[in-house]
Amino acid sequence: MASVIDTIKAKIDVVDEVGLVVALRKSGKSLQGLCPFHNERTPSFHVFPESQTWRCFGCQEGGDVFTFVEKQQGVDFPEALRYLAEKAGVSLEAYGSPDPERERETNALKERLRKLNEDAMLWFHQVLLRSKEAAEARAYLQSRGVSSESVIAFSLGYAPDHWDALSRYLLGQGYSEQELVDGGLARTREMARVESSAGVSGEEQGGGVYDYFRGRIIFPIRDMRGRVIGFGGRILGDGQPKYLNSPQTPLFEKNSVLYALDMARDAIKLAKQVVIVEGYVDAVIAHQYGTKQTVACIGSAITEKHIQQIKKLTKQVTLALDPDAAGVAATEHGIQEALKAFDRTVVPVPVVGNNRSAASKRYQRNEPRGMIRLEEAVDAEINVLQLPAGEDPDEVIRRDIVAWTYAVAHPLPLIDYYFVARTAGLNLREPADKAEAAKRLLPVIGSISDRVKRDAYLRKLATMISIEERSLNDELQRMLRGQKSNGVIAAFSDRGWQQRSATGVTLPGEHPGAGEESARTSGLEGVGGISQAKDQRRSESRTFGLDKRIKDRIKWEDYLIGLLLQNPGLWSHVCGIINDGDFAGTDTRELYRIFNSVYQRDSSPLFQSFEEFVPSALLETVARARESIESGTPLDGAGLIKEAVQCANRLKRACLVQSNTELQYLERGATEAGNSAAARQYRQQLLEIHRQIRTIDSATHLQG
Ligand SMILES: [Zn+2]
Repeated sequence: MASVIDTIKAKIDVVDEVGLVVALRKSGKSLQGLCPFHNERTPSFHVFPESQTWRCFGCQEGGDVFTFVEKQQGVDFPEALRYLAEKAGVSLEAYGSPDPERERETNALKERLRKLNEDAMLWFHQVLLRSKEAAEARAYLQSRGVSSESVIAFSLGYAPDHWDALSRYLLGQGYSEQELVDGGLARTREMARVESSAGVSGEEQGGGVYDYFRGRIIFPIRDMRGRVIGFGGRILGDGQPKYLNSPQTPLFEKNSVLYALDMARDAIKLAKQVVIVEGYVDAVIAHQYGTKQTVACIGSAITEKHIQQIKKLTKQVTLALDPDAAGVAATEHGIQEALKAFDRTVVPVPVVGNNRSAASKRYQRNEPRGMIRLEEAVDAEINVLQLPAGEDPDEVIRRDIVAWTYAVAHPLPLIDYYFVARTAGLNLREPADKAEAAKRLLPVIGSISDRVKRDAYLRKLATMISIEERSLNDELQRMLRGQKSNGVIAAFSDRGWQQRSATGVTLPGEHPGAGEESARTSGLEGVGGISQAKDQRRSESRTFGLDKRIKDRIKWEDYLIGLLLQNPGLWSHVCGIINDGDFAGTDTRELYRIFNSVYQRDSSPLFQSFEEFVPSALLETVARARESIESGTPLDGAGLIKEAVQCANRLKRACLVQSNTELQYLERGATEAGNSAAARQYRQQLLEIHRQIRTIDSATHLQG
């Protein structure tokens, strides 16, 4: 049986799916349009029907129909799978779900709870808009500056201060008491008796349940797709607790939901930034005044799960949390969680300055590990929005919108934030406090992988505590020697590793012909027992030939995943060479991503089998990957490393060769159409690809 992914891909044309959001114009064998992922005036976004792939030569994003849905809708793989399966009319249950019967039941239950939530939301909303009892609630919202447009847009509501007003309504609509309890909208009387302090004795006539939310302004919480999954309630008056959220339900997972994410989604992508505030009202007011990339974290602290929700949409996270003492702790916690949630990229850093000729000489002398040092960098930019002490975001917004807008556009970079937060309370004229400041900030400075930035911050610290930069630098070097070069928390993302790693390598003369030729004829040799017929490859390569190449790549991808599953330690040897975007297979790409997230964490539950982390639709691929290494000869440690590195290099190379083919094709098209500017641009990009291919070739050669 074909895998569910293959079945879906056979039914959904990437051209149609992309065509829903991008106006595509046919241009020879490809279709082109304006990239939906970056701003551009001339189209550099291409869809290749033959290989069912897409790529933007402006921002370098690319992939297949799954990647497109993930990126465009800002969802993760399982969500994209559900969406595409539904669209293709493919039942996921038929594919390896461990218990389809139960899955169907769970889905039916969730569907029912969604409808329940929707009905409750409408009822709360109507009460707020029309009921006499809600007058105080309306006055409160007005006093906080919430406009009636916002009340409507966010479907705000009011839960009157009765024991069972909502419950009676919903029971009348045909829901059962159990459903009300399951949906987190009511509690049973037994629960009430346990809470003796609540003093439930008066109105006994309402049946076996009573309302969960009473006397509260209601903020409906929706998922990314805009479906109501729970509620947040703010008390009217001085009661406790001030905020009450829905309990954990099959729809509502307390520590992962972000308020207003559905309304903020498009703005986050557009602004390339998410602003995280603490309160519901803060989020509503921020939207009302135009900062629509704002969400509120629900619950007391930002968790890794919160960040998981947004990391598909943007890599820039701006925290706008309380500036008081507790807020500082919360912010530092939030920063740590955010750093944990984002992927880490291994960035090769030249060991000797950026003097190219010196670097290549050293390289040729074959120094240990060449001239590249690997450092981990978080693939995100975390920063902090500074607010005046004692003011909530909504107050700042209403008092001074200009200051707020400026602050949002110019948040404090993480390192600068640490400079402020970690020296708060120190008297920097006192020698002891100076030493303390250095002790607290040097590790932060040491974590910056960009040398220029690192030096700048070292200077800043030197000035701040009036100590000679040189002696601080000595201290920093001592510290760096004492610690390993990984485990870094640097927030400076640097995705240009290919360019950087290429700078130190002596390259043969650069002219497109040479690169083209080598890209076309060498490259896709077999690996680890997987080989292919050369003559067949030659004949294929004369045509566009992407399809065949992708099939070969997937074999290697299976093999590499198999190697990694058997020896997770190999990851550190391949992660500097490839990343998940280099995988051609939808399933292997997702498995590599899951592998990264499982094995990168400190808390890796290694005793759990990898399969437990994998959606059932991908289990077949895991089995295939495990099988693919069983046929090979057993290897020792060094042999395994060599094998994995070779495999990764070949995958990277194959990826570059594909870009090469696509670009050549586009370049020809542009030349024929007489568009010399575009053709020149493609030729430049081809040069860059050839340079990268040669870098890999020379690295592969040196590794023997
Ligand atoms: Zn783009």
